Amino acid sequence: ESMFSDIKIAPPIEVFSLTAKFNEDNRPIKVNLGVGAYRTNEDKPWVLPVVRTVEAQMACDTTLNHEYLPVGGLPEFSYNAMKLLLGDDNPVFTENRVLGTQALGGTWGLKLAAEFMHRHLGVDVVYVSKPTWGNHKGIFKDAGFSQIKEYRYWKADTRSLDIDGMLEDLKNAPERACVILHGCAHNPTGVDPTNEQWKMIADVCEERNLTIVMDIAYQGFATGKLDEDAAAVRYMQSRGFEMFIAQSFSKNFGLYNERVGNLVTVTKSNDAVLKVKSQMDLIVRTMWSNPPNHGARIVCSVLNNPGYLSEWKEQVKMMAERIRMMRHQLRQKLISLGTPGSWEHINTQRGMFSYTGLTEAQVDVLQSRYHIYMLKSGRINMCGLTSNNIDYVADAIHAVVS
Ligand code: PLP
Repeated sequence: ESMFSDIKIAPPIEVFSLTAKFNEDNRPIKVNLGVGAYRTNEDKPWVLPVVRTVEAQMACDTTLNHEYLPVGGLPEFSYNAMKLLLGDDNPVFTENRVLGTQALGGTWGLKLAAEFMHRHLGVDVVYVSKPTWGNHKGIFKDAGFSQIKEYRYWKADTRSLDIDGMLEDLKNAPERACVILHGCAHNPTGVDPTNEQWKMIADVCEERNLTIVMDIAYQGFATGKLDEDAAAVRYMQSRGFEMFIAQSFSKNFGLYNERVGNLVTVTKSNDAVLKVKSQMDLIVRTMWSNPPNHGARIVCSVLNNPGYLSEWKEQVKMMAERIRMMRHQLRQKLISLGTPGSWEHINTQRGMFSYTGLTEAQVDVLQSRYHIYMLKSGRINMCGLTSNNIDYVADAIHAVVS
């Protein structure tokens, strides 16, 4: 008798099992629109040239070693990451009321915030957008939150933001409940609030005294510009909230497997920073003890060097523009095929993903008949589209919708 004999097989994680199925599919023509990573027009992963340059230098730099980093990570990485997010001349820096804690990607930044809120702030309820990134609920549940609630976000009939529903749900949230807001390029819908809508969202957060966590995993992917994509985060911070921001460099540096993230804590005073840091370090100590160096060192070296920084900004812009081009072309092709329905949303949604509005039944047929793989929700990764497969995908969508 094995001690593991009663273990139940867990349900598969959709996004990974989809890729496994895709890899097993031996049809010559197949398309994976499921993955959450950038692909070139040749359908290949992309190591950013500026990352290659810095890695080559690091390999020869004999001043570097493999000693443990501090528990909270590389301080100059966190500092530069926060300047990229909040703006160089943000008063939080001179007033010393912001803390950066290096985390293992955006995922662990969120986990760290969740653990902190649950252990130290007595926050027990979290609101996530409906729909949201597939991992939000699980992270907060595992951190001990007793209620995982949803606020309305996607309006299926108009394929746009349900701002009234969102505001109403947040107005009904209990005081101090945590709300997760996507900083830009909302995953999975690609729909972000406008400036006026952010103001209304901030008003409700203030009125209900909500505990804000902003999740920004795609800075640069929405507009191609780093500052513009940080506008919502900067606006919320400028309203005077104390808040958490989970920053990820997986996508905008293409450093997915290096696990580079930063949890930003904005406080009202320097005194709070010192207290929060001491407790944050204790949480990290039992979770990963201290973070990996390689990816954070790369990001830090790029952000610190004006030449590399402008190279990187160009490379981010290239990624965003390729995605925008694919959006535009897919919409054009569907229109010229006369595919029923409006496809304008594909063009106006931002970031890596598009919520197509395809039904689960249509998604099934696309997979079984056309070998085009996407999430059941109809979310597609725009970078899975290339000049080679876009006609094939548009024809297939046309066929299943018509
Ligand atoms: N938040 C959102 C909305 C995401 O889409 C992702 C990644 O897909 C993450 C956080 C986490 O990213 P990371 O891979 O850096 O942990």
